[in-house]
Amino acid sequence: MVVNLKNSTVSKIMLLLLLSGLMVFAFEFNVKPAKAWTGTVYIRADGSIDPPDAPIVTYDNIIYTLTDNITSFADGIVVERDNIIIDGAGYTVQGTGTGTGIDLSSRINVTLKNINLEKFGCGIYFLGSSKNRIYGNNITNNREGIRFWISSNNVLRNNSMLDNQYSLRVWGWNVSDYVNDIDASNTVDGKPVYYWINRRDMAVPYDGGFVALVNCTCITVEKLHLTKGGQSILLAYTTNSIITRNNITNNYYGIWLYSSNSNLISGNTLTNNAEAGLYMRVSSNNRVYRNNITNSSIRLYDSSNYNLISGNNITKGGLLLECSSNHNVIFGNNITGRGIVLEGSSRNTISGNNITNSDCAVGLAGGSNNKFYHNNFINNTKNVYIHVPGCANFWDDGYPSGGNYWSNYMGVDEFSGPYQDLLGSDGIGDTPYIIDENNKDRYPLMKPLSPPPPDYPFAEWIESPNYTPADERNITYIVIHVMDGYFEGTIDWFQNPDSQASAHYLVSQEGGIVQMVREKDIAWHAGNWEYNQRSIGIEHEDKGNWDKPNWATEELYQASAALVRYLCDKYGIPKDRNHIIGHNEVPGVTKPCPGPYWDWDYFMGLVKGVPAPRKFWAVWENVDYPVLILSNSTVSNFTFDQPEAKISFNLTGPSGAKGFCNVTIPKNLLKDNLWTITVNGVPITDFSKTENDTHSFIYFTYTHTSTLQVTIQGTWVVPEFPTHLTLLAFVIIITIPLAFIKKKRNRKTRS
Ligand SMILES: [Zn+2]
Repeated sequence: MVVNLKNSTVSKIMLLLLLSGLMVFAFEFNVKPAKAWTGTVYIRADGSIDPPDAPIVTYDNIIYTLTDNITSFADGIVVERDNIIIDGAGYTVQGTGTGTGIDLSSRINVTLKNINLEKFGCGIYFLGSSKNRIYGNNITNNREGIRFWISSNNVLRNNSMLDNQYSLRVWGWNVSDYVNDIDASNTVDGKPVYYWINRRDMAVPYDGGFVALVNCTCITVEKLHLTKGGQSILLAYTTNSIITRNNITNNYYGIWLYSSNSNLISGNTLTNNAEAGLYMRVSSNNRVYRNNITNSSIRLYDSSNYNLISGNNITKGGLLLECSSNHNVIFGNNITGRGIVLEGSSRNTISGNNITNSDCAVGLAGGSNNKFYHNNFINNTKNVYIHVPGCANFWDDGYPSGGNYWSNYMGVDEFSGPYQDLLGSDGIGDTPYIIDENNKDRYPLMKPLSPPPPDYPFAEWIESPNYTPADERNITYIVIHVMDGYFEGTIDWFQNPDSQASAHYLVSQEGGIVQMVREKDIAWHAGNWEYNQRSIGIEHEDKGNWDKPNWATEELYQASAALVRYLCDKYGIPKDRNHIIGHNEVPGVTKPCPGPYWDWDYFMGLVKGVPAPRKFWAVWENVDYPVLILSNSTVSNFTFDQPEAKISFNLTGPSGAKGFCNVTIPKNLLKDNLWTITVNGVPITDFSKTENDTHSFIYFTYTHTSTLQVTIQGTWVVPEFPTHLTLLAFVIIITIPLAFIKKKRNRKTRS
């Protein structure tokens, strides 16, 4: 047997440490609190220890070693000197529930190791601190374990945070304020800390005790049980990530976003989180769906805009939009116990929510032009309280769509019409529901709306009678259709019981969406009962042009892809072509729906959020030539002019914004050595061109004004074949593959 000396020495030391630890425990529990020095110790900037009798020794003003336990009624050790090492030597610094264990404010290059910090307001406190190293400390039973405030490049290894009310909390103004090297050797109640920086396309392991994602993208945080965090899941400068099915309980903040956009937060359970269940600051375009939030709030703070908060149950926590959080959509939530507060926030849409049994359903302080409609306000102590008078908001959606249901509305319904002056009831109260002089619901509803329509907040609900009700079904497919007709005509057709046809959603060429069957119910669209049962059907307006190239507008693709993305997120449907299928891919279906010109690659790119070029088809002599255009602008009106040897299209985008275009042209359609490119009729010279054997690639940039017209002109263009030549080519094209197939078949029969 070979004895590893190093290891055996280490184990001896470990044993000694363990024994001394046991002795400390023995003292603590069996006798009295360990006899310890009492007071606050300062390590002064000049290297001195103050007061001098404190149980810390140094011989070089660099290494400071504890020689006894310290008890304090305020702070433990306040460090005022940089570039030193504090060795706790296994001793304990213990507070009485307030103050800071080790105060490292403004410190640089301090090493803190082997110390036990107990019962402070905060165990270790960083404020504007950098490049400090925190190794092997036990931080136990504090109100807060470790707090980082605007601190960077600190290194944490092998620290154990145990039984703190809140383990770890990080905050800063800039991305650099979140850059600390904290690896998974650090633990919260025995579970590893995952503090990830600059990562992408990964999933956080299920055993995490604390999660921070800094400057990350496409991360999944799923099925974690997170408790007692300062934040439990922290996202800073993180995008396109998914936080789903986590159980988040008893944290200070549950899910916490700073400057983080386009994330999906769905299906989580958030309970008893003190400051907020979900908190967003300067974070936009996040989707928050179907979370169960109890004794915790949702707070959108400081310019958190364009977020969609939908289908959540929020019990005894409320929803707060604060400090210019604008343009958010709050739709179809059940809010009870506490209501919605808008403070200095404008242009939010609050519709289809049930707000019940709260002390105050809506509180308003500043902000204006928020729109509240189709909400049910039921049994609230107060429906609306205006803290700061003078703000004007909308409380209805016009006539006949109507306003809200107010359970304390005392009006009657004997009249109808926009002025409520025509005889006959219409479900809308005859007199407005007055909140104050600037706020009134002109069309209060006589009955609560139930359930809140529609399922998708950007759709308009128009019910079809053609569906099979279902209580619960397993949705695994999205089926893409074309209408072979017009939007309004198809809505009309699906409203007709004789058609025996329907779809869940209809998308117009302008990108408008109508929902006609509830997602939970079975629409009649797939021509296959099994697929009907398991799918959501989406019809697209082609105006009868499905068999002609370039029929689909950019608006249609964008609107449909956003809808499909929403549905995939909501039902956990993978965003791939096995689950997002064409009607023609349903077994037994012979219809060519959605036809050869549905641009699957582009559409799937939009669904996944991965930009793909849009495919346009240039057609000549009944042959399709795909031209690919990758651009950050909206591309429309693509045409190919054979006699002029020219491709042209329009580009639109926000005025003043930089745009780019990457055009891939098949050489058998159009080619050149020089190319002539014009933008709004003006030739441009600043473009790049490359090519391979089959294609030319042209790249150019521009600044948007209004719609830009682009032409790309070559000199050699697909020739007009004499008819007999075309026929000859056709014969050759058909014969060669046939010959191959024959050969293969023959071989197969032989084997
Ligand atoms: Zn179809």
